Amino acid sequence: MMPAEQRVYSYSAVLMGSPILLKLFEDDQHAAAAVFRLIKQQENLLTVNRAQSQLMAVNHAAGLHPVVVSQSVFDLIKQAKAVSLLADSCFNLAIGPLVKRWKIGFSGNTVPSASEIQSLLPLTRPEHVILDPQTCSVFLQQPGMEIDLGAIAKGYIADRVRDELHRLGINHALINLGGNVLTVGAPLHGATSWAIGLKRPFGETDATIGVIDVVAKSVVTSGVYERYFEIDGKIYHHILDPKTGYPLDNEILSVTVISDDSIDGDIYTTLLYGMGVEKALNYLATIPHIEAIFVTKHRQIILSSQRQFKFTLQDDSYQQL
Ligand code: FAD
Ligand code: MG
Repeated sequence: MMPAEQRVYSYSAVLMGSPILLKLFEDDQHAAAAVFRLIKQQENLLTVNRAQSQLMAVNHAAGLHPVVVSQSVFDLIKQAKAVSLLADSCFNLAIGPLVKRWKIGFSGNTVPSASEIQSLLPLTRPEHVILDPQTCSVFLQQPGMEIDLGAIAKGYIADRVRDELHRLGINHALINLGGNVLTVGAPLHGATSWAIGLKRPFGETDATIGVIDVVAKSVVTSGVYERYFEIDGKIYHHILDPKTGYPLDNEILSVTVISDDSIDGDIYTTLLYGMGVEKALNYLATIPHIEAIFVTKHRQIILSSQRQFKFTLQDDSYQQL
């Protein structure tokens, strides 16, 4: 049996419709409970999958009146709006009406008609999200508009979990929020870095293509295989192109971003996905603190650089470029 001081203690829960895993190096039920409580509190503010949350209050008041939200929710919406307004951004915080119509990953398995999509697109304009920092309020100008932070809320929450762990004096831990992995410090014993599996698209749950070794980094993956449905051999996945209203369609199956903060990982996975590999690699050359791994439909693994992590390919049916 392993000596107690060398054990890893894992705690799990299902929150935000996702499996959540926390790894610690001592058995600390109190810390684990505090982390899960924090995630639950954040979910209660940010969910759009229940009738009530601060975000749903904003959505329910679309076209009617501004809604005052907490400072942290306001700041997250402000950041999401700014990213949505970047030139050619594929990220759009106002994508809600389309997400709700497609229902991908929920009970959805029908393709909306082209006219339905055309009628929803005008309700997804980020510039119609009006923010008032004075009153900390958010107003959606058109009736029917809906903010959806599904693409970035887990990253934001992962960063809050890291803050909470530090507050509790825990400097070595790992939190996995259904694909958003955030490592705090290095592992306390055993290996000198955390080994994070890179998932094989459309593989078995635990199938991996390779391993990403990191210390004190966020590793966020967005993949077309996470939530999708298939009709007549065509896959409809949950990352939508805000210009067309249909799932994004390019050579990418997954994008993994390695960064310090998980919110950045979450923002950039969506932005880079929308750019496609070539443009994304050029773009990443200008922002050294963000690195990415692309898995393509041609079974290629493309790394932007390898400064903050080490990647080891394990599946020889893929080719690393
Ligand atoms: P990402 O690739 O990071 O994001 C994809 C998601 O972002 C889509 O699912 C959609 O919500 C949104 N999106 C799509 N296109 C765009 C775009 N162009 N720009 C911006 N956003 C876009 N799942 C459940 O099954 N049940 C739940 O009760 C539930 N509750 C949740 C509560 C919270 C607070 C959060 C954050 C998530 C919850 N989820 C729930 C999961 C959620 O529905 C999404 O599936 C999940 O957040 C997607 O994260 P991802 O990292 O897999 O995908
Ligand atoms: Mg994301």
